[in-house]
Amino acid sequence: MIDQWGRKVNYMRVSVTDRCNLRCVYCMPLQGVQLRPRDEYLNYDELLRVIEAGLSLGIDKIRITGGEPLVRAGLVDFLAKLKPMGVKDLSLSTNGLLFAPMAEDLKKAGVDRVNFSLDTLKADRFHKIARLSGDIDAVTKAMDAAIEVGMHPVKMNMVVIRGWNDDEIVDMARLSIDRPIHVRYIEVMPFSEAYEFTWENLVPAAEMRQRLMDEFEDLEPLRKGIEGNGPAKYWKIPGSKGSVGFISAVTECFCGECNRIRLSADGKINPCLGHVHEVDLKPFIRNPEATLEQLAGAMSDAIHLKPREHNFDDATADFSKRIMHGIGG
Ligand code: SAM
Ligand code: SF4
Repeated sequence: MIDQWGRKVNYMRVSVTDRCNLRCVYCMPLQGVQLRPRDEYLNYDELLRVIEAGLSLGIDKIRITGGEPLVRAGLVDFLAKLKPMGVKDLSLSTNGLLFAPMAEDLKKAGVDRVNFSLDTLKADRFHKIARLSGDIDAVTKAMDAAIEVGMHPVKMNMVVIRGWNDDEIVDMARLSIDRPIHVRYIEVMPFSEAYEFTWENLVPAAEMRQRLMDEFEDLEPLRKGIEGNGPAKYWKIPGSKGSVGFISAVTECFCGECNRIRLSADGKINPCLGHVHEVDLKPFIRNPEATLEQLAGAMSDAIHLKPREHNFDDATADFSKRIMHGIGG
């Protein structure tokens, strides 16, 4: 469907849980995460109904996210239902810890592509950033497993935080040399946990690019980009199998190309990450008398609410209440 600013919206990020086996400093509080009653989350049948309504509006690209989607039981069986319904492009965002043993089943269930999150290659830093125990090797094995089972492209997201991991920008780029891995550098966004430190710790994409150019003088822009639904701009170290990309949500607004809405684990549509309004679909999902058309109507209303641009630099907007592990990134 086309929104009021003329953008085609055909992509929905679906958060299947707000639980996670990590507690990344910019995403989720270490302590005090309220475990909500299970019935606050959409069950799989309810998620399928929202996706069916989305398909009727032309939303046929779905990314499964979280929290950590792979901690939700029954995920593979749920995923296997999506392609037969008409979903054309099915992708997954994961921290990768549980991925490798599931890779083949996920591929069989229809997952075309995967994005892994990895902010550092140093074990001690991993514990400082992700805070719960996790093994970097499990994530690198996950990337190999994804390539082996034929997921393509395989992307690796690094949230860059000055003073925490920005000295690894160049090392991360080297991951793209020998394997078809597309490393993406994400500007830290001023949400929830990251709200306090974003502005002083933000490394603008232009600076990240410059640091790579200082190291790889012949870094070349990729005009065609890399398959996916996102706003990253890609570059390549000549001769490398993968690429490097920049997601400059804060400093270089790419809202003119925005094609997405987000469904939170508790059934709310977020029309824009950079605005605090949302539309609750639960009354349409849980009312036995509400029709699929009414549900699609509520989603279409949410799409109409999409603003022209994000407003991260609006000091009066309360982004500290944006909970990334609930929205799904
Ligand atoms: N657990 C999965 C993962 O980490 O990939 C999926 C959910 S996570 C919320 C999705 C994406 O959001 C990750 O790439 C994560 O790095 C990103 N993210 C979370 N909080 C962020 C923030 N404050 N600024 C920028 N990116 C953020
Ligand atoms: Fe969990 Fe992903 Fe958030 Fe890290 S970024 S806490 S892995 S949901």
